[in-house]
Amino acid sequence: MRRSKLRHDMRQLNLDAMYLSSPENVRYFSGFTGDNGHLILTQEEQILLTDGRYTEQAAMEAKDVTVVLLSGKLSAAISKYVVSRRVGYESSALSDDTARALRAACPDTEWVPLSHFGLAARSVKDADEIAHIRRACAIADAAFAELLPLIRPGVTERELKRELEYRMDRLGSEHTAFSTIVACGERSSLPHATPTDHAVSEHDLITFDFGAVSCGYASDITRTVMLGTPELSHVFELVLSVQKQVVERVCPGISCSELDAFQRSLFAEAGMSEYVVHSLGHGVGLQIHEDPRVSPGSETVLTPGMVITIEPGLYLPGKGGVRTEDTVLVTEHGFERLTNTPHHIVL
Ligand code: ZN
Ligand code: ZN
Repeated sequence: MRRSKLRHDMRQLNLDAMYLSSPENVRYFSGFTGDNGHLILTQEEQILLTDGRYTEQAAMEAKDVTVVLLSGKLSAAISKYVVSRRVGYESSALSDDTARALRAACPDTEWVPLSHFGLAARSVKDADEIAHIRRACAIADAAFAELLPLIRPGVTERELKRELEYRMDRLGSEHTAFSTIVACGERSSLPHATPTDHAVSEHDLITFDFGAVSCGYASDITRTVMLGTPELSHVFELVLSVQKQVVERVCPGISCSELDAFQRSLFAEAGMSEYVVHSLGHGVGLQIHEDPRVSPGSETVLTPGMVITIEPGLYLPGKGGVRTEDTVLVTEHGFERLTNTPHHIVL
């Protein structure tokens, strides 16, 4: 099904073959999960080249695909299958050096660069993909529920990060979806802070941004937790209220830029525009950040099956920040939150 759609696109683009090299697209279109796979598709064939570490795994995972042992130069191996043809390739996934080597090895082939290929197809998830993301979200929710009793004055960001990641791992996450963020106090004004040995204090805001992975699919959730009564408690309440209102707007037919503009209008009404420093969200799937981008320039219109994050935040330099984020499924008539940790957490 996925490959027949791809072949349809190839005919539209007048391509004789397609060469896919990003691990996500190779996985999506072949089933192979290793990190060294090169998939060549023509209208008749599908060939997966991989090295000796993966040939047995590839034969098990990649159904109806011819697995070829890759030995020697990649460009020479690929040249056997693409001579004198017009071939599309993922320009964003190939280094200049590899692209040059391919051109040199196949002088009669017309190489057609396609940037971000596959992202549009992958932005609408099927039932299996949604089940994997749902599980990744459930793991993150359960791990965070276990972490809550450990959040108290004196514990450091790095300790909390370790505890959270250990729990996600124990609950079945394949690995973390990205580098876990834990930022307390004024450090929470850094949207992507790296956890340090800074300790939580009595009246504090602590932001956690983390995700689990199930069958290759990620979840993405942020919660800012309030300890005692920090100075920025009004910011906490505002961000939670904005996030709720924006999530409730998610439905088929609305564009990503409209959603982003809506959050900005709500923050503007509250006189807080200057503290908005990033766009509203992004698609989630085999990659933690993928299409559709939920940003001012994104005219993508939401359709059922898309999975996006809604993650408004406010960041006051030197004082602190608040962000709250859910992974959200676009359904036939609206939305479903896939992350279900409560938002209003005061310890
Ligand atoms: Zn996140
Ligand atoms: Zn995110």
